[in-house]
Amino acid sequence: MIVMKFGGSSVESASAIERVAGIVKGHLGAKPVVVVSAIGKTTDRLLHIAAFAAQGDGISAWRKLLALQADHLQIAAKLKLTLDREIEDLFAELRGTVLEIASLHSISPELWDATVSFGERLSSVMVAAALQKAGVPAAHMDARKLIVTDGNHTHAAPMTVETNAKIRRAIPCVDRSLVPVLGGFIAATEDGTPTTLGRGGSDFTAAIVGAAIGADEIQIWTDVDGMLTCDPRVHEGGLCLESISYEEAEQMARLGAKVLHPETVLPARKQRIPVTIRNSRNPGHPGTTIQATARGSEGAVKSIPCDRASGTVSVVGSGVEQQAERAATALRQAGLLAAVTQTSRLAVRFQVGEGCLAQAVSALHSEFFTKRPTSVRTAGPVPQLQYSAAS
Ligand code: ADP
Ligand code: ASP
Ligand code: MG
Repeated sequence: MIVMKFGGSSVESASAIERVAGIVKGHLGAKPVVVVSAIGKTTDRLLHIAAFAAQGDGISAWRKLLALQADHLQIAAKLKLTLDREIEDLFAELRGTVLEIASLHSISPELWDATVSFGERLSSVMVAAALQKAGVPAAHMDARKLIVTDGNHTHAAPMTVETNAKIRRAIPCVDRSLVPVLGGFIAATEDGTPTTLGRGGSDFTAAIVGAAIGADEIQIWTDVDGMLTCDPRVHEGGLCLESISYEEAEQMARLGAKVLHPETVLPARKQRIPVTIRNSRNPGHPGTTIQATARGSEGAVKSIPCDRASGTVSVVGSGVEQQAERAATALRQAGLLAAVTQTSRLAVRFQVGEGCLAQAVSALHSEFFTKRPTSVRTAGPVPQLQYSAAS
């Protein structure tokens, strides 16, 4: 069995969902379990609605709610799904939650979770129906009945024993020829109160499910070819890494590589399940494989993640502390004042300030990737970076 997780941009429109159906169809032989995020930017939109309601701006909250409902209905109509009733029922329930926020003038963590849970509740029902329409024998499953967490709302931690028991009971029960489809990110406490796993947490759901069923592979389908050497929104020209180790991937994610939720790595690593990052808009590209050992010499910089919130840029790779001086010099030569805030075997992190992030990433990228001879495979729009023993 494999787990296939599709992020928000991979299900952002009717055509994107059709593309997902095609990709799932191509993997039926591997017995997929499908995990989906909320459609497009739905989670952010739900949070705006909740914020308007809490501030007492009911008109804006209502207008945005209606727009979100219209968008979901329109996607369902384009896909010719007969789901209007289900979608309207979910929005009626959501309106109740929004009214509760409006009456309290605040968003408690419980109501935050209840509000955002509608994104994945809607998308999972719609993707399951779209898969059926495309000829995939899909069966919708409610993630809140499978993933059990503690009560730490907005950042809940899964209770592994209870969760594994529920998943192992439910998934093999699905007729072997059916493809289970569930929403990522959402879960519930033992008493059934909705919780969420932290923003971007659908990747984590995929890993939790993958570990529970002993999957052969966990696929994270997104809008880039794989883990790149830098954030494409900050610096263009990043290379796609062919493979990285679990610990490198986790470190990249923790230091700002949003393409992967950092908690995703642990469940996969414990059972040595490979995680692949793939592009749903470019499915022919092999993507990046995250596994126990990765190619590349000890001490090579693999990626340069950055984090806007803390104004930090890092160089990451196994044994990368050897490169600390070289990285500091490259930043200095670019005219940047950079203070080292962390040095470990896997990462050297510099504080440069938010305003200098792009310049810092560009300086480090040209130091470690433009200057270094690399073997490049052009399998897609982003060149694939393979490490030779000498690199
Ligand atoms: P999804 O909706 O599929 O979960 P995300 O938006 O969470 O997708 O993550 C994908 C985005 O992560 C990419 O579009 C890219 O802008 C960003 N990103 C940041 N750093 C990296 C990196 N090192 N490699 C690839 N993508 C990155
Ligand atoms: N929809 C959630 C979010 O936007 C979870 C995810 O996409 O992984 O954070
Ligand atoms: Mg994501």
